[in-house]
Amino acid sequence: MPSVLLATFKPFNKIAVDGIEKICKDNGLTFGKIEGYKTQEELYSAAESAEACIVRSDKLDEEFFNRAKNLKIVVRAGAGVDTIDLDAASKHQVVVENTPGQNANAVAEMVFALLIAMKRNHFDATSGREIRGSTLGLYGCGNVSRAMIEVSKGFAMKCYSYDPFLSDEQIKECGAEPLHDLKELFKCDIVSLHVPATPQTINSINEDLMSLMPENGVLVDAARSEVIDEDSVISIFQKRPDLGYISDVGFTKIDELREKIGAAQLKKQLIVTPKKMGAQTLESNVNAGLTAIKQISAYFKDGSTIHQVNGKAF
Ligand code: NAD
Repeated sequence: MPSVLLATFKPFNKIAVDGIEKICKDNGLTFGKIEGYKTQEELYSAAESAEACIVRSDKLDEEFFNRAKNLKIVVRAGAGVDTIDLDAASKHQVVVENTPGQNANAVAEMVFALLIAMKRNHFDATSGREIRGSTLGLYGCGNVSRAMIEVSKGFAMKCYSYDPFLSDEQIKECGAEPLHDLKELFKCDIVSLHVPATPQTINSINEDLMSLMPENGVLVDAARSEVIDEDSVISIFQKRPDLGYISDVGFTKIDELREKIGAAQLKKQLIVTPKKMGAQTLESNVNAGLTAIKQISAYFKDGSTIHQVNGKAF
């Protein structure tokens, strides 16, 4: 009976956990879990006997794969696999998969909620602005961007996207106008980042780009903190008090920013969630969690490795 470990320092909703356990039972898999753990050591020792693992943003480093001697498959319940050492996984012949698209709607709904909160001055009894008819620029045209395009239709927005990995046709099919230069994207009223952290995207959003934004432009990062250069935000905010920045990926230099622009202006220009709130819905937990365990069941049943993200050469 292959054993499955659900390892989440940020636990799933109980309904998702119960669903995962039931699918394990129905498919002859034993189920164990470690939730809300505090140290990597707790994770390593819990994973020592597991043959399959479901994780979220948990850090699976080389030591994890050295210690998890029986591990055959890891499924990241979500999209980003930048917290997993894929080379170490391949070295130990562990299949790593993700569950693309399962939390895309949750992220899109959150982004629009935060955009409206910012444009309406947090509903502080003053007069705000509407987002209807704004232009929306999407960095990347993957699952989250596509969900953004769906939601944007209700706000009569015109969407643009920069994604050099997709053809113009593919981007048009998603409902966005393809752009071939990142600078063009920053002419949009709202620019939303939905790319993975890669050597090309890390620190790719800087002051030069942000300075191109139209008056009252808003930049959103619900992807990865590494994509944006925080010093650029601090610098541009001092020159452009009209701009806004919404972050679901934290903002480490918030004290420095507050000192430079003052608390009142900070509240106007910046919204920072407690980090990765985008995927924190019951629906998204259930979608991603149950998809993960179904992929694991399929792997043990017939060797299926759908959505494998590390090298298939081993
Ligand atoms: P996805 O893989 O479906 O789409 C990513 C898109 O980015 C792809 O179309 C790819 O071609 C494109 N891309 C890659 N490199 C690029 C580059 N250099 N320039 C332009 N485009 C590039 O992923 P997704 O599900 O849409 O997620 C997007 C990002 O959001 C990921 O970083 C993911 O980890 C993050 N995410 C965050 C949350 C959250 O809770 N805030 C939830 C889900 C996803």
